[in-house]
Amino acid sequence: MKHYICTGECHGMSDKPGVCQAEVCEKKSQPLTECNCEGGQHEGKGHDHSSH
Ligand SMILES: [Zn+2]
Ligand SMILES: [Zn+2]
Repeated sequence: MKHYICTGECHGMSDKPGVCQAEVCEKKSQPLTECNCEGGQHEGKGHDHSSH
């Protein structure tokens, strides 16, 4: 199911498009990134462990 995540330090997630609303996040007021992952891996974050 499609959802939207913040790639900043708050790791926020929303079911709808929008912007980060976390006061302490470096990405505050920046658009959330569309993500279609299952299981909470958040493919849009771009941080993966290459050894698997
Ligand atoms: Zn954020
Ligand atoms: Zn995701």
